[in-house]
Amino acid sequence: MTLPQHAQIVVIGGGIIGCSTAYHLARDHKADVLLLEQGKLTSGSTWHAAGLVGQLRSSASITQVLKYSVDLYKRLDAETGLETGWRMTGCLRLACNEDRWTEYRRLATTAQSFGMEMHLLSPAEVKEMWPLMRVDDLVGASFLPTDGQASPSDITQSLAKGARMHGTRIVEGVRVTGFAMAGGRITHVETDAGRIACDMVVNCAGQWARQVGAMAGVNVPLQPVKHQYVITEPIEGIVSSTPTVRDPDSRTYFKEEVGGLAMGGYEPDPIAWTTGDVPDDFQFQLFDDDWDHFEQHLVSAVHRVPALETTGVKQMINGPESFTPDGNFILGAAPECANMYVGAGFNAFGIASGGGAGWVLAEWVMKGEAPLDLWSVDIRRFSGLHRDRDWVCERTLEAYGKHYTIGFPHEEYESGRPRIVSPLYERLKARGAVFGSKLGWERPNWFARDKDEPRDIYSMGRQNWFDAVGEEHRAVREAVGLFDQSSFAKFELRGKDAAAALEHICANRIGKAPGRLTYTQMLNSRGGIECDLTVARLAEDLFYIVTGTGFRTHDGQWIREHIGDGMAAELTDVTEAFGTLSLMGPKARDVLAAVAPADDVSNEAFPFGHVRIVTIAGHPVRALRVTYVGELGWELHVPISATGEVFDALMAAGAPHGIRPAGYRAIESLPLEKGYRAWGADITPNDSPFEAGLGWAVKLKSGLPFIGRDAAERTANTPLRKTLAAFVVEDRDIVLLGRETILRDGKFAGYLSSGGYGYTVDRPIGYGYVRNPEGVTGDYLKAGSYELVVANVKVPATLHTGPLHDPENARVKM
Ligand SMILES: Cc1cc2nc3c(=O)[nH]c(=O)nc-3n(C[C@H](O)[C@H](O)[C@H](O)COP(=O)(O)OP(=O)(O)OC[C@H]3O[C@@H](n4cnc5c(N)ncnc54)[C@H](O)[C@@H]3O)c2cc1C
Repeated sequence: MTLPQHAQIVVIGGGIIGCSTAYHLARDHKADVLLLEQGKLTSGSTWHAAGLVGQLRSSASITQVLKYSVDLYKRLDAETGLETGWRMTGCLRLACNEDRWTEYRRLATTAQSFGMEMHLLSPAEVKEMWPLMRVDDLVGASFLPTDGQASPSDITQSLAKGARMHGTRIVEGVRVTGFAMAGGRITHVETDAGRIACDMVVNCAGQWARQVGAMAGVNVPLQPVKHQYVITEPIEGIVSSTPTVRDPDSRTYFKEEVGGLAMGGYEPDPIAWTTGDVPDDFQFQLFDDDWDHFEQHLVSAVHRVPALETTGVKQMINGPESFTPDGNFILGAAPECANMYVGAGFNAFGIASGGGAGWVLAEWVMKGEAPLDLWSVDIRRFSGLHRDRDWVCERTLEAYGKHYTIGFPHEEYESGRPRIVSPLYERLKARGAVFGSKLGWERPNWFARDKDEPRDIYSMGRQNWFDAVGEEHRAVREAVGLFDQSSFAKFELRGKDAAAALEHICANRIGKAPGRLTYTQMLNSRGGIECDLTVARLAEDLFYIVTGTGFRTHDGQWIREHIGDGMAAELTDVTEAFGTLSLMGPKARDVLAAVAPADDVSNEAFPFGHVRIVTIAGHPVRALRVTYVGELGWELHVPISATGEVFDALMAAGAPHGIRPAGYRAIESLPLEKGYRAWGADITPNDSPFEAGLGWAVKLKSGLPFIGRDAAERTANTPLRKTLAAFVVEDRDIVLLGRETILRDGKFAGYLSSGGYGYTVDRPIGYGYVRNPEGVTGDYLKAGSYELVVANVKVPATLHTGPLHDPENARVKM
């Protein structure tokens, strides 16, 4: 086939992801698609996948994506005439210890929250279902009946046929070698068979996606890792309906394969392939069998299925697959190039994800916005740090090694640290700080007291930092605390059209006088919350924008992308120019007054919602009167080199007032009592401000146009189908984490989006949307009686719609 001169969309890569994306672009959007594959379809990672298809993830949206895959694989053959090999065998997950069992009880609750069936089975029930399995060391197992397995190559060929049926041109044997670019956009795709003009490019090049992205300046932080499994001779008793098995405590998995078993695993000491370019001609190829490395899995497998001891191995598969530094795949619009989209880095669940990932990626390409909350897989969760290939490799190998380890709450990665430290790192360390890491930054999570071991000791119940964080929390409520939030992402928007640009992007009023600041959301066209941040007007033509550490690339790109054409407004990332110290608590003013004697910091002179330049230790400091903890306080943005001096001054002036440094775990606890929402959990692109109780921050009455206004008006004028509420549990020992099911009058009504402990109210607190297709009014909320399902056990809960702690009058509302 000769190459066309132009295509609306060029999809690069003929693995399952490229074929699924092309299929959905053509089927759902009637797009003009050209798919280019350098070898043959499936010849990258897809052909040698084992074909297990699981669905449940910790994100509701990603679970929805995986469920979509299963629905598609079930019916695709009816449309294309090509089988997918789909079999709904169900999947058993084995638990060999109590922590794992708790994890499954929580998973079963998550499944219920996301509308999936999951059963918890006794060892005897497992034996009945899988007679060849040894079960004497099991505590139990979970069973997800709708999981299964499929044939990776067959699905891909079926998707490719479907894509062709809807008009896609698929060309094999053509390699993309570069891009012609103009104005930050790709204008042409260069290939070894000529160039093609195009409007958009979708990079689905599997483990080559990193190098394909690099040709357009796009960073796709993935690392090819060797992954092995074996296929055995037939085993008496293994049949096509035998459930797939995951035995994470032994790090292995099993599935039926032609009457025998395919068995592989996730070892703690994985072997990376190259950190350089993946060879172009690595088509339908495998690595040499590595029996020494695989032995650990064989030993575990023989323990679990003793029949394997006398069963021959037909074949070993040792193939490369792309893994990522956090174990989630990479999807969406590349922040560095306006018209390249990426779908890559599938961490050995590309077959399970393929159908759904192609569906959402096609929507994203056509509409310019993710159709769901896809934050956990969004390419904008990465930053410049992720261009460091050695760092990416090291962190990715840690993530691979954790694939099957127990997911303890609050667990931190350990590799590649410390990477970015604030100027206060040594000072905080000397005071007992135990750090976590976010987007490469070391951040104090909590401060160990003399009696504490200064490290996290993970467990499924209360962890070792619980009491220390309680003290930090109380110091902030009763006296004053100092938080190092230097990792906050910070931007300046400058130019004569800066105010107009922001007014258009933000849901709240921005065009206030210099010296004012605004807490605002930025909405997508569906009225969902894309960003949640603070905008301070420093001058007529200068705004200072502060957002969460992890949202740096995402929020920066959202703003840049939506500044109108031709507007004089330039966004600069100034994150590293300022250290941020948050001084919070009823004594905050006393401390600030002491360190800034030349400035009037009284409430009259410096009210809430204002920004002023104050002088501390001789340095000009941007002081923002805001609070995320529900107390009097200031965020102090200090020239980065002065951060240490200002910290010392604050600590010295605060000593008589009982000042303490406090960490991120206290920051997570304090807002729970005040009802502040966390983006990515309580508020996401799936939620509107009205549902989230943030309708007051939407400028509908102003009459001004802004992105998402039409949708916001519709939501404001129709009964809400869900509303965010707080839930308080009496039993102090209950651990709330998010995803626990909400029952209203005994019936499913939603699930928690976040959870934790409020030390002032001294109770576990969770937030979640109460859902009802007929509408959720205040009366409806009040009329119900509530329970939460926590690790599969029902616990009574009380619902609250207002703050649980009201610091204005220091009254605890319960
Ligand atoms: C041993 C093993 C077992 C696995 N088991 C499972 C499993 O049980 N379940 C599961 O869900 N997943 C499993 N996986 C993962 C799964 O195979 C992958 O996630 C999936 O195949 C990724 O598909 P892809 O389309 O992203 O990549 P690929 O299949 O690699 O496709 C990318 C394609 O892009 C082409 N390409 C690259 N560069 C260019 C260029 N410049 N020009 C043109 N074309 C280009 C390549 O030739 C390639 O065909 C397994 C992986 C391995 C290695």
